[in-house]
Amino acid sequence: MKTALITGATRGIGNAIALHLKNEGFRVLGTATSSAGVSKLEEEGIEGLALDLNSAESKEKFWEQVEKKEVQISVLVNNAGITRDNIVLRMSEDEWLDIMNVNLNSAFYLSKKVLKMMLKLKWGRIINITSTSASIGNKGQSNYSAAKAGVEAFTKSLAREVGSRNITINSIAPGFIDTDMTQQNDGVNTDELIKEIPLGRFGKPDEVAHLASFLCSEEASYITGQIIHINGGLYM
Ligand code: NAP
Repeated sequence: MKTALITGATRGIGNAIALHLKNEGFRVLGTATSSAGVSKLEEEGIEGLALDLNSAESKEKFWEQVEKKEVQISVLVNNAGITRDNIVLRMSEDEWLDIMNVNLNSAFYLSKKVLKMMLKLKWGRIINITSTSASIGNKGQSNYSAAKAGVEAFTKSLAREVGSRNITINSIAPGFIDTDMTQQNDGVNTDELIKEIPLGRFGKPDEVAHLASFLCSEEASYITGQIIHINGGLYM
């Protein structure tokens, strides 16, 4: 049985991916920032682990817990992400650095950890969840867009480094998906946003999860270093 690790598995896109992979027979480890989140995951049949990607101490404790399980992780989904929106002139250094820690630095930290397992297994899949905003930018999201663009460049470089070892690295770049993250878009007119989307609606977490499942499969073995957009035509 293959083991998958999904960060930010409690809600939204990460939860949908975790449940899809569990239904496909993976052993799934999922992370949450709170003990309530860990319990929710356990109830769903996912092995819950506490992880705050903005805390070096939490990351260290988390990895100790993973090692205690003596698992060999062959699928990593770097999904956890946050926004701290502000225009550059008003953005604090913390708003910039929190985004870099959670959205960009985490991909390096966890990929490096699991790659050692994947090299032993001679098989691996890393999927990074980025965003359309990495390609088109977004007013008030310079920090978020820069972090996601960084993850996309990381994806391509790492794909070149480990391709010969049967490990694929890809990014999924969603547009607007109906999750807590898009519901907290203060002052944003959803009807106006939807007018910009050729398919005329937000996407569903499940639709992103289908794509992630495919990228984890044997059938996707010749896809690496790609940024795969899923956005209802918002960006093409
Ligand atoms: P969400 O519903 O807000 O869920 C965020 C997840 O990240 C939660 O599981 C949360 O855990 C976890 N998380 C938050 N802060 C964390 C931290 N400091 N350390 C570790 N985990 C943390 O988000 P979503 O919309 O599903 O987004 C998932 C990914 O897709 C993100 O990378 C996001 O940038 C990307 N994305 C989303 C959209 C969209 O329209 N929704 C579009 C493009 C890209 P807790 O539940 O414990 O807080």
